[in-house]
Amino acid sequence: MRGAGEEPTMSEAETLVSSPTRTVRLLDRYPIAEQTLAFELERPPGFDFKAGQFAEITWIDPPEIDDRGKTRAFFITSAREDRRLTLATRLRDIAFKRILSTVPLGARARVAGPFGNFTLSNQATRPAVLLADGIGITPLRSMARHLAHEKRTRPVLLFYANRRREDAPFLEELWALKNEESRLQFCAYHPGPGYRGLGGVARPAALLWA
Ligand SMILES: Cc1cc2nc3c(=O)[nH]c(=O)nc-3n(C[C@H](O)[C@H](O)[C@H](O)COP(=O)(O)OP(=O)(O)OC[C@H]3O[C@@H](n4cnc5c(N)ncnc54)[C@H](O)[C@@H]3O)c2cc1C
Repeated sequence: MRGAGEEPTMSEAETLVSSPTRTVRLLDRYPIAEQTLAFELERPPGFDFKAGQFAEITWIDPPEIDDRGKTRAFFITSAREDRRLTLATRLRDIAFKRILSTVPLGARARVAGPFGNFTLSNQATRPAVLLADGIGITPLRSMARHLAHEKRTRPVLLFYANRRREDAPFLEELWALKNEESRLQFCAYHPGPGYRGLGGVARPAALLWA
């Protein structure tokens, strides 16, 4: 139970059937790998989330629209300690992503969320093993950033695979986090363009048996 006037806790927020939708502005965008863009949105006051949750982003008054719509879901790749909401995506030639690449900064979007329970347990003390392939790194980067802020004792092993090094978003940052954060073990794998092995999450999983 919580008293009147207290902020809802995350577990209560997760159970809300309809999450509030807030209007935010696009503040920045920058490439983080080949054909891959990070974008930063204003973080609405009181918008709390756990690392691993996602938000739905809808353009307001977009300059163009196609039959795929103006809404997409993205994991929040910033940590709850960060001032802005950062998201990241592979670019494709469709309206939502053309807008993302070209619309002037300051453009407005609606953010719904946070949603999802793909989050690390607060209680667990056993090492967490995290596997990511490509753009699937987005929620795990949020976790790695959060754990670095939190200075917890729980060890985390992060395996990260991409076909090529230039396809790997946030690679340098994750190496830097590993160096400053002794409980984060980080293993990156990018076999190169000739790679014909497993794809998807099986690619980083293969590292476990290598
Ligand atoms: C929880 C969650 C988190 C996610 N996090 C990320 C993330 O961090 N980064 C990221 O890049 N992506 C993420 N995604 C995926 C993201 O939402 C997009 O689906 C993805 O970026 C691909 O977008 P797209 O527009 O290229 O194509 P799609 O997502 O394939 O298409 C978008 C929409 O168009 C519809 N559609 C597809 N094909 C057609 C067609 N031929 N005709 C008409 N409609 C069609 C689909 O049903 C869908 O509603 C996440 C998805 C979920 C569910």
